[in-house]
Amino acid sequence: MDEFVKKHQNIIFQLTITSLEKNGFNAVLADSREQAADLIMEIAKDCSSVGVAGTHTVRALGVLEKLEKDGKAMSDHWKFQPGTPEEIDCRRSQGQVDLFLSSANAVTMNGEIVNRDGCGNRTNALTFGPKKVVIVVGKNKITPDLESAIARIEEVAAPRRAISLNRKTPCVKSGYCMDCDSPERICRITSILHRRPMLTDLTVIIIPEDLGY
Ligand code: SF4
Repeated sequence: MDEFVKKHQNIIFQLTITSLEKNGFNAVLADSREQAADLIMEIAKDCSSVGVAGTHTVRALGVLEKLEKDGKAMSDHWKFQPGTPEEIDCRRSQGQVDLFLSSANAVTMNGEIVNRDGCGNRTNALTFGPKKVVIVVGKNKITPDLESAIARIEEVAAPRRAISLNRKTPCVKSGYCMDCDSPERICRITSILHRRPMLTDLTVIIIPEDLGY
């Protein structure tokens, strides 16, 4: 990588970490996916149950298989057919786990964490319930401020997610949010963590590569 690109990225990472820490979050820059997975295994040491949001980023670390092998009780609703009672129960159980793993739609350089959900199992679990939360983000998720975080959701994250779910929403054709009234609309809840939720031990792990939507 060009040394000036690397320098620029490091400025963004360090400013983001400083802001997250100022806002009460634990924040770490991992060198690699492997190091991020090791950090999660360390955080999970005293946890017997682990929930996982619908996240491509966390799955790309290969850490879920390790946690399962380690004997953790896993709440991963992607293991069930969407809309079945088992899948819905699994989403509910994620609010009661020892450790909840997620990514975010955006993390701002001012130290805010922004997510937009359809069901709310992720936004609920991020705010209260699990004893510990780990949020893993690639560099593509970092935005300067809240305005650009919402723009990222509407221009990138939500349309890509709608496409991946094969939704019949206008964004799958336009490529950006049309603030639709579709019954298949996936954008129903917006959550902003301005500061660490009072009763949650929350760690943000930044990985210096593009990951997830
Ligand atoms: S509100 Fe509708 S159009 Fe906008 S991103 Fe969500 S699903 Fe797509």
